[in-house]
Amino acid sequence: LRWGLTPAGGYAIGAARHPSRPAVIDEWGAVSFAELDERTTRLAHGLLGSGVRPGDRVAVLCRNHRGFVETVVACAKIGAHVVLLNTGLSVTQTAAVLRDQGAVTVVADAEFRPLLARAPRGVRRIIAAVEGTTRSTTLDQLVADSPSDPLPRPPRGRMIVLTSGTTGTPKGARRPEPPSLAPAASVLSRIPLRAGEPMLVSAPLFHTWGLAAFQLALVLGSTLVLHRRFDPLAALRAIDEHRCTSWFVVPVMVQRLLETPVGERSRWSTSSLSVVASSGSALPGPLAVRFQEEYGRVLYNLYGSTEVSWASIATPDELMAAPGTAGRPPRGTRLAVLDEDGEPTPPGRPGRIFVANEMLFDGYTNGSGKEVRAGMMATGDVGHLDENGLLFVVGRDDEMIVSGGENVYPREVEDLLAGLAGVREAAVVGVPDEEYGQRLAAYVVAAEGVALTESAIRDHVRAHLARFSVPRDVVFLDALPRNATGKVLKRELPRP
Ligand code: ATP
Repeated sequence: LRWGLTPAGGYAIGAARHPSRPAVIDEWGAVSFAELDERTTRLAHGLLGSGVRPGDRVAVLCRNHRGFVETVVACAKIGAHVVLLNTGLSVTQTAAVLRDQGAVTVVADAEFRPLLARAPRGVRRIIAAVEGTTRSTTLDQLVADSPSDPLPRPPRGRMIVLTSGTTGTPKGARRPEPPSLAPAASVLSRIPLRAGEPMLVSAPLFHTWGLAAFQLALVLGSTLVLHRRFDPLAALRAIDEHRCTSWFVVPVMVQRLLETPVGERSRWSTSSLSVVASSGSALPGPLAVRFQEEYGRVLYNLYGSTEVSWASIATPDELMAAPGTAGRPPRGTRLAVLDEDGEPTPPGRPGRIFVANEMLFDGYTNGSGKEVRAGMMATGDVGHLDENGLLFVVGRDDEMIVSGGENVYPREVEDLLAGLAGVREAAVVGVPDEEYGQRLAAYVVAAEGVALTESAIRDHVRAHLARFSVPRDVVFLDALPRNATGKVLKRELPRP
């Protein structure tokens, strides 16, 4: 492992050490480490034969299944860079990203073909999975038609991950080079994952969080259990059937699970689970508490971003003792909350969150970067530390609302509303206001069959927070617009 762990290296080691252990279990069955190693060597030859050269960029537009994993590994075997496309982008965004990244080939699921309608000419398409069929795709054909001869040692390929595009067009972020064991070592310092056990990854693999889970599986020689779509009952069933010991989710999946009737959920046993790891967006305190009351002390909240990787991790006990916390930095990570002068803020006082670790990204592919202070990178978020050094993320710094000269972080109001009986979910934004500069608008989704009033919403906020935090506009919606990782897309909310 001294030379770091590329996906190619990881599966080659797995094939030598535990050839028959399943590397991936998806809806088509299991692929062992030995099979995956051989299939990806063939696919690598197939890609070379189709004109992909070391250093070229290959885009992946897939859901979670073996085709995703195989493409990433095959690219690593020939030193091609992989661009992980978010499946929730529009046709125009997808075309723009393919053009910006200069992708020569895109490996896509058949269902995403419409997204490629405006892809630049000359981009070759390989279909990785077809909905509802047995596996019979151009990717499989390439594997079947190509030799399995050993490949020359390639130059290092890179992984380019797109940011979620929560605040605008997704940016390509280059992963650090060379890949090292630092990310895994830092997670393992706070989360007791064991080697060689099945892990269910429900978070999308194209997102930093799913990719992180994939890299952990590589390091640990674990079996990746993958579903193309998230379904709470299918997830529980897979955990029971494959005796998964860890489960990687985004917070909205935890919420969807708890919304499923207990009677239906209790058909499956989750006794094998010792780690449920959530990341990608804020994990509301009450949700974490409720989850652990039903499923035991297994939940971890990881805070991080595409740019800084993980910045802090909260353990199950910390989530019970200090609901809503994002925990502490893992080993090898330095974290500080700084005021405008770059000084650490006292406990309880919000400031900008900065992080330093070995996993900081290498800049965006358009050449820009993130602000750095005292060797630490800005996460773009605001938060505070409590007396015990536990981090609370208050929100993104660009989401702060200034209403009548007072600073309001939407997250505080959103969490409060989410705790009101009858509220399923809520989002708060600032809208321009002649008198106050900005005023708060709350978007509320009521639980099924519940009738909520605007005044009930305002009264609840008034009872708990300062006057300037009370939303003046309250809009009821059937659902909040969310991206593929479950993050609320605030810019898509209708104007009140
Ligand atoms: P873009 O940069 O394109 O707008 P994005 O910032 O949403 O997209 P990601 O890297 O996917 O892209 O998201 C990272 C952000 O998500 C963090 O900066 C933070 O705001 C939020 N986040 C992630 N995990 C957590 C968490 N556990 N608690 C609170 N916030 C979180």
